[in-house]
Amino acid sequence: MEIQKQSKQQQQEEFALASVTELASSSTSSSRSDSQSAPVIARFSAGNGVAVLRFNRDSESTDSISVDVKTAQLSKLGPLQSVCIAEASGADTGKEKYSTGVTVQFRNEEESRAFHCAFEQWKKKDIVQGTLLPNGAVTSFKSKFEDKIEPSSAKMYFHYYGQLLHQQNMMQDYVRTGTYYAAVMENRVDFIDRVVVDVGAGSGILSLFAAQAGAKHVYAVEASEMAEYARKLIAGNPSLGERITVIKGKVEEVELPEKADILISEPMGTLLVNERMLESYVIARDRFLVPNGKMFPAVGRIHMAPFSDEYLFVEIANKALFWQQHKYFGVDLTPLYGSAFGGYFSQPVVDAFDPRLLVAPTISHDLDFTEIKEEDLYEIEIPLKFVASVGTRVHGLACWFDVLFNGSTVQRWLTTAPGAPTTHWYQLRCVLSQPLYVMAGQEITGQLRMVAHNAQSYTIYLTLSAKMWGPGAEQGGILQTSSCKLDLKEPYYRMSQPQAYAMAQDQQPHQPIHTQDIHIHAADDLEGP
Ligand code: SAH
Repeated sequence: MEIQKQSKQQQQEEFALASVTELASSSTSSSRSDSQSAPVIARFSAGNGVAVLRFNRDSESTDSISVDVKTAQLSKLGPLQSVCIAEASGADTGKEKYSTGVTVQFRNEEESRAFHCAFEQWKKKDIVQGTLLPNGAVTSFKSKFEDKIEPSSAKMYFHYYGQLLHQQNMMQDYVRTGTYYAAVMENRVDFIDRVVVDVGAGSGILSLFAAQAGAKHVYAVEASEMAEYARKLIAGNPSLGERITVIKGKVEEVELPEKADILISEPMGTLLVNERMLESYVIARDRFLVPNGKMFPAVGRIHMAPFSDEYLFVEIANKALFWQQHKYFGVDLTPLYGSAFGGYFSQPVVDAFDPRLLVAPTISHDLDFTEIKEEDLYEIEIPLKFVASVGTRVHGLACWFDVLFNGSTVQRWLTTAPGAPTTHWYQLRCVLSQPLYVMAGQEITGQLRMVAHNAQSYTIYLTLSAKMWGPGAEQGGILQTSSCKLDLKEPYYRMSQPQAYAMAQDQQPHQPIHTQDIHIHAADDLEGP
């Protein structure tokens, strides 16, 4: 039997403090309340098989005091002051060993409570790092997040969100941010005097909204380096910030000192489920929310409809034409044509399209965030059944989503539908390499299956079928079926010509130009992507 080596664990949790004073040296590191100051940071981490608590002047500072959490004691001296005493550590040099004592000054009582709570949790943690235990069960310190997500994916993901420009991009999606703001403000009753957890707080903007709506206290949990900026932003808005505690860490790993009455989060990715953050939202619900507590948003709804778009189809097929050259600097590229063709058709297309390209009434699939189990998000199967409104070539399935803020005062939907004001999510289209021919009134059936993978996204399996018309139709018809496999993690971003696109195409709704004369190789002889 093999014991898993967990030598590169990244678990850590950070807290900002007002100041720390080392008892022996009486030197004080402090953070001023102005937004320019570097806060004193207390960081719990798992290193070399032990839980370590390190007090740093800031996140980069090497000037730090470290204590072994297992042997350390934390006692309250007052509501905002505690003392942490740890036994002497280090190599046995024969010299006298001294204990470390640190006085910790908190900025407010909530932060003091959160810190004490985390301290107790870290004390209990059983850390195994590259240690081969002789026998017995190993209580691993792997969180639910680390169990299922590839570390390299998580690293890139949190690096991305740690940058202000990406947070700005989301904040500048005014449909998104404005709808959150309206939903919170219209439903103040759900926030006034309530404890709120902001799941994946990013810049902290939703925590600040919740505080504006009168929240008693907001715990802003953010795993990326953005937590530092959130602290700065919140410190710079002191009237709201005094009711917000930023906790740096994953919602799967951090501990909070109290339960929340309401969760607020923006966990939606492309096609709702990309990034697999809905799972973190659901885990946060199970870990932090009181029974029957509220979730903002509470429901996600995926909408789907078949579409016809010759231009898009030809554009994708044409990308592979490069590989049809027989004499590219004297080299025959055609052996890779099939692979290139398959590769382009395995990319879902992200753009804003004209809803007139849809060729049947939409169907939808709901995910109730208040009820759904985390595991139910690992594989999502949606049966498809449409009735074509027009005779056309169907090039694939168009998808988008809405989320519902089920407030006690106002119910508000945030929609990413085609035709509605465009959001940074745009819409998503799965394009079939072999289109289907349908007549008006004809039924289109199939399945959309999404299987989560460990790079924080999904593999999409789409099948669409329609009964053939013409000879054989009377005998029940022969099914023409077209399938594709796509990776939601690798979409083709095609937003350079958004809204205006339908105009440029000069295409009558539901009467697409037929381009059968454009020679596109049949996909029968293609290799898989
Ligand atoms: N709430 C902010 C940011 C939304 S983006 C806003 O609405 O503007 C999602 C954020 O969640 C990112 O900053 C990301 O780093 C964070 N996040 C994603 N998964 C997380 C997890 N498991 N634990 C903590 N934070 C997470």
